[in-house]
Amino acid sequence: MSARDHDLREIREAVAKLCASFPMEYWRATDRERRYPTEFVRALTEAGWLSCLIPEEYGGAGLNLTAAAAVLEEIQRSGANGAACHAQMYTMGTVLRHCGEVQKKTYLPRIAKGELRLQAFGVTEPSAGTDTSSIRTSAVRKDGRYVINGQKVWTSRAEHSDLMLLLARTTPREQVQKKTEGMTVFLIDMKAALGKGLTIRPIRTMINHATTEVFFDNLEIPAENLVGEEGKGFRYVLDGMNAERILIGAECIGDAKWFLAKATAYANERKVFGRPIGQNQGVQFPIARAHMATEAAALMVERAAALYDQGKPCGPEANMAKQLAAEASWQAGDMCLQTHGGFGFAEEYDIERKFRETRLYQIAPISTNLVLCYIAEHVLHLPRSY
Ligand SMILES: Cc1cc2nc3c(=O)[nH]c(=O)nc-3n(C[C@H](O)[C@H](O)[C@H](O)COP(=O)(O)OP(=O)(O)OC[C@H]3O[C@@H](n4cnc5c(N)ncnc54)[C@H](O)[C@@H]3O)c2cc1C
Repeated sequence: MSARDHDLREIREAVAKLCASFPMEYWRATDRERRYPTEFVRALTEAGWLSCLIPEEYGGAGLNLTAAAAVLEEIQRSGANGAACHAQMYTMGTVLRHCGEVQKKTYLPRIAKGELRLQAFGVTEPSAGTDTSSIRTSAVRKDGRYVINGQKVWTSRAEHSDLMLLLARTTPREQVQKKTEGMTVFLIDMKAALGKGLTIRPIRTMINHATTEVFFDNLEIPAENLVGEEGKGFRYVLDGMNAERILIGAECIGDAKWFLAKATAYANERKVFGRPIGQNQGVQFPIARAHMATEAAALMVERAAALYDQGKPCGPEANMAKQLAAEASWQAGDMCLQTHGGFGFAEEYDIERKFRETRLYQIAPISTNLVLCYIAEHVLHLPRSY
């Protein structure tokens, strides 16, 4: 499978077909039980979709970000929840650019085959969310190894991943000139580390997201698990973040399209006062508005992905894509719930689940306020506000 063999339409059709074999009852049950959708993730892995960004020389499909965005959009558009596995795509932004050849040869072919899962990305800490540079988890070099101490929070999928990309401080914040210096990325073999300095504690949340707290207590890892150069980790993580924002934007577009399809069908079919509710402008206008917001945001996601694929700077576009798409999906979700009246609250309609799931993207991976701060400062050259 390669970019040449597949156009986006074929990719979308293939992903939609795979998703159709996981009915809504599957997603309701996993959500109700807060169970990881192992079968779905396995099916996506076996079909090669979760390794689609891995270059062909390492056994992946070698597709570009535009194609990966189409995969995730299609997953969400089917009503599924791609959050169970999207990290394996967005971590590639850091891995492909900054892992050494030995690391790539060691891990990428096994990830592509589905033998290893790279689903965990440990950046956020209890006292360092938005302000990444204040992370305290430390890695100290000692006799050819690093010793890691500290805590991460909201490390999603940690229990279902073999590998974790971890951001830790190798130089304390007080000792660096710029606060973004002195942070380093590591590739952690989680299965080897469990019980030997690594502890994972699940956090139950309003969505089925398999998120956790992760504790490091004198965890020793081989020095060769360092990614790139020591102290440059913040920049490496930023490189991955544009990819992440574009992919999450694509997921939001998929969610918005799912809400729109659901609302349109219901507005045509549900009769109140002897006529379809969709005949009322009070019902159809919010649907039309949500459609326009979705189409506009989709253009920005497309543009950001195209710039990324051309290797051009895309920070503003990636941020705007994520923000506009997250707002469009939330607008569509709210509209869909309103269109369904009381039935929107019933589990069997799936709207309340998708409504909860899509709300996350106003907060993670970056909150909407911080995107606005970024645009104000870096695009509009207003004073830095934080
Ligand atoms: C379900 C879930 C899964 C997640 N998965 C992961 C993961 O896998 N890996 C990972 O590393 N992290 C993950 N996160 C963490 C997520 O990236 C953070 O929650 C997010 O970056 C916000 O950080 P915070 O929660 O600490 O909020 P805070 O930084 O405490 O901010 C709280 C509020 O204050 C606002 N705020 C803060 N500073 C300013 C300012 N200067 N101006 C204006 N407003 C401001 C923010 O916008 C936000 O609304 C996840 C979070 C959730 C909820």
